[in-house]
Amino acid sequence: MPDLTPGVPSALSPLVRRIVASNPGPMTGPGTNTYLVGIDEVAVIDPGPDDVKHIDAIVGGAMRERVRWVLLTHTHPDHSPGTERLVKATGAEVLAHAKVPKKDQPVVTPDRLIDEGSVVEGTEFRLEVLYTPGHAPNHLCFYLDEERVLFTGDTVLDGTTSVISPSRGGDMVKYLASLERLRKLRLSKILPGHGDVIEDPRSRIDEYLAHRAERETQIIAMLEEGPAKISGIVGRLYVDTDDVLLEQAASMVQAHLVKLRSEGRVNGRDQKSAWKLA
Ligand SMILES: [Zn+2]
Repeated sequence: MPDLTPGVPSALSPLVRRIVASNPGPMTGPGTNTYLVGIDEVAVIDPGPDDVKHIDAIVGGAMRERVRWVLLTHTHPDHSPGTERLVKATGAEVLAHAKVPKKDQPVVTPDRLIDEGSVVEGTEFRLEVLYTPGHAPNHLCFYLDEERVLFTGDTVLDGTTSVISPSRGGDMVKYLASLERLRKLRLSKILPGHGDVIEDPRSRIDEYLAHRAERETQIIAMLEEGPAKISGIVGRLYVDTDDVLLEQAASMVQAHLVKLRSEGRVNGRDQKSAWKLA
């Protein structure tokens, strides 16, 4: 199995290397995955947190002058703050989506805005940009043509589910649409923002969709018993969940409720108010 030890580059394919940042935790798994695509010319996907050792490992792994582009899947604090340090070391061009949420830590201003249909071409590779909002309003996935591999950032993960937090621009309707769309691609592998390589892309995406559908059914079943606050729903739905993850669980429940409200199926306002069936 390829190494998930932070700082140790591991070759995942002829064109792709991975270096895990040393920010392991309940939300980040073994740490944020930074991917290096290409050999002569290198695109770095997600430099991760601003961590000298991690950026040194990236530069060491790719060789300073070869890093031509820094691509951001989104601007959450575990994915993008290392950008500035990496750009200083390499002079690489920063490519990201235009819509940076106010709450996200500032990163260097992108040199080039990319969106659905944009293409990044290196000597040995071609990366296509897919706009996949839901986890974050500026979330992008990158498709590596030569290997039919998809870099999914936080849209599909290994070992955990993606957090959809309405207070940070998360949107369940858009997220499910993004998953449905990714599901239709002919992929050989998914290289997620956290965790190991996903060898069975279609069935993993199906699991994600089934899990969300199940949660929605459970939430509706609880509201059929009467109005409930989000904290009450979380308490019954996430029984064995670690305390540190309960805030994320509340965000997920809220994201489902906001989706159901947009469909005219429930009424409610926020985390503090009671929600009921429409
Ligand atoms: Zn994220």
